[in-house]
Amino acid sequence: MQIFEKKELKKRSDNLSDWYTDVILKAELADYAPVKGTMVIRPYGYALWEAVQEIFNRMMRTRGVENAYFPLFIPHSLLEKEKEHVEGFSPQLALVTIGGGEKLKDPLVVRPTSETIMYAMYAKWVHSWRDLPILINQWNNVVRWEKRTYLFLRTTEFLWQEGHTAHETEKKAIEMALAAFEWYRQVFEDYLAIPVYQGIKSAAEKFAGAKTTYTNEALMPDGKALQSATSHNLGQNFSKVFDIQFAGRDGKMEYVWQTSWGLSTRVLGGLFLTHGDDNGIILPPKIAPIQVVIVPIESKHVKKNALQSARDLFLYIEPLKKELEGKGIRIRVDSSVESLGRKFNKWELKGVPLRFEIGDTEVDSNIIKVARRDTFEKFNIQRSDIVAYTERLLVEIQKSLFEKAKKFRDDNTRDAATYDEFKKIMSSTRGFIRAFWCEDAACEAAIKEETKASTRCLPLNSRPGLEHEASGVCVRCGKPASHRWLFAQSY
Ligand SMILES: [Zn+2]
Repeated sequence: MQIFEKKELKKRSDNLSDWYTDVILKAELADYAPVKGTMVIRPYGYALWEAVQEIFNRMMRTRGVENAYFPLFIPHSLLEKEKEHVEGFSPQLALVTIGGGEKLKDPLVVRPTSETIMYAMYAKWVHSWRDLPILINQWNNVVRWEKRTYLFLRTTEFLWQEGHTAHETEKKAIEMALAAFEWYRQVFEDYLAIPVYQGIKSAAEKFAGAKTTYTNEALMPDGKALQSATSHNLGQNFSKVFDIQFAGRDGKMEYVWQTSWGLSTRVLGGLFLTHGDDNGIILPPKIAPIQVVIVPIESKHVKKNALQSARDLFLYIEPLKKELEGKGIRIRVDSSVESLGRKFNKWELKGVPLRFEIGDTEVDSNIIKVARRDTFEKFNIQRSDIVAYTERLLVEIQKSLFEKAKKFRDDNTRDAATYDEFKKIMSSTRGFIRAFWCEDAACEAAIKEETKASTRCLPLNSRPGLEHEASGVCVRCGKPASHRWLFAQSY
């Protein structure tokens, strides 16, 4: 028996963070680039991002949101227009001060987000209520300088989508912000199999310049929260600054009501952290670029010659592949010259949900050996049953990954009635803590300073276990508090 190289991958069970970096590099999802804080997203990682794009484009189309593209450079003076906004971003800005060999009079900011440049254009385009709504999204890269970086989770340059809409009434803007917020929940829960708590950000944690920020918060296996996608009701904060006015139905001039919302490549980091084991990542079938890998096993028999065996294998596998593809299942046949063990390890590392092993034995008895990535179970399935079986199993794996992550999240969401309890949770298991908070920013900052836990959100929906109590006292300062907030240490 050959001993296959599994030794290389660091163990997830030993140290999640070391495993995370290692598995991203070894599964060829991404690699470090020459500039510190930047990374290359490799084809297998990029295929996941493309899948997210496809899903999200489909969702946006249901409300008529269209894709467009705005420039990478923003005049610094434009960014400075909205005071709160520029203050929120200034420590992270990358500035271009020289262009074409000359010092620029107005330095250019490499976009950290595109509100300012887009809204300067919206001011030009909007005149009457008939020009509304504006429903634009762009897929692009943004730059926010980071001192410490972490593949996918915190990089100086990252990819995302940023939706920016303008409406006639605040009601319509809020509807839009909430629709995007719901799309994000669907991306996480229904596709990435990551359960999220949905809620509203505190004043200190909300987006710079927003009236309300809606957030989706996920729990990672190390007990830290990942803020995964946010949607903002911008009110008229930006339209007043950028002078986006329209003549209303009554002829009076009014400022538009706006939203912005973003989902970044950070979610892929959350995906890799959430589902995995010592053998690699585990991809939920709905998002997996390859759902089934077929590994042909060459003949070891003497009763057939090698050529005949290879032909039989090909004739067995090709129609099977076509049939599965016809059902929309994403297949890869691995006919590479590597050893079987290496092939198995490689596809386990890359998290492909199902592996089919097909050799002479399977061909002769008209079966397929199926191996499930998440549980390592193996089954012998009749050829005639395989398509329906595969479809069913992919649904089951998707569901099972979500349930497992949800159980972990629920088991690690705790109530803290006293500050001692709060601190004890934060110094041991971490996870989400539900506690009354007085909503005073100084108290919030002190909690963060003393325990590393920040407010993640005020949960919006009353899912089981998250019902709002009438009132209570702040877990730290004892002042009256009207809501239980969700706290956690964040990524
Ligand atoms: Zn307090």
